[in-house]
Amino acid sequence: MIYFDQVSKIYNGTGKTVALEDVSFAVEPGEFISIVGHSGAGKTTLLKMLLAEEDPTSGTVFFESVNIHGLRDSEKPMLRRRIGTVFQDFKLLPHKTAYENVAFAMEVAGRTEDEIAADVPHVLDLVDLGSKMFNFPGQLSGGERQRVAIARAIVNQPDLIIADEPTGNLDPVNTYEIVQILRKINDMGTTVFLTTHNKGIIDSVKKRVITLDQGRIVRDDKEGGYTL
Ligand code: ADP
Repeated sequence: MIYFDQVSKIYNGTGKTVALEDVSFAVEPGEFISIVGHSGAGKTTLLKMLLAEEDPTSGTVFFESVNIHGLRDSEKPMLRRRIGTVFQDFKLLPHKTAYENVAFAMEVAGRTEDEIAADVPHVLDLVDLGSKMFNFPGQLSGGERQRVAIARAIVNQPDLIIADEPTGNLDPVNTYEIVQILRKINDMGTTVFLTTHNKGIIDSVKKRVITLDQGRIVRDDKEGGYTL
């Protein structure tokens, strides 16, 4: 489904920074992959490649058989629509309710009012927020906000969810719940890419772990642990 073929990324700032170096790996549909590594190891750069937000300096990234970086700008929204994203800082619209935040993602994707009315309560139920769908983000806990963000990420039925440090701002109980929800979504067939620093998450998920160090893949464990 996803194939990184000898991908390197060098940023030219004040000096040259090698963010990714000769990264190759393949991902099958339905996998749950955790990307771990110290700060600066290249995790975010790798996710930006998948979203076509950055181009590789060399190498190729394929999504199915499509070379992501051969896409025209006008074709990139089609790719991004197939990928749901969840971030550490939630990125919810503060003046919209949980329901409206999720509905907005459907409106942008051109879905009809009937589809929105049917699907939004359904996904908010899936993340156990059915009873709080008319709360604004300011009236929700951190864990609840992240569940809204997950509902928004899945509502257009993407093939892939990218979760970039989704539990970075959460306490252990909420972290556990978010990981359980991501696992549930994965069990329903969606491929999940998770970046995390949290050793506990990696140990409990017991799925594939790719470890990055200074832009290189130093481990790729089928049912990994965290060994940095
Ligand atoms: P991580 O997500 O693992 O913390 P990043 O992918 O954000 O790592 O960064 C990898 C390296 O690339 C770091 O050394 C970082 O400073 C550098 N880097 C990331 N983005 C840029 C940029 N836009 N310009 C210059 N250097 C960058």
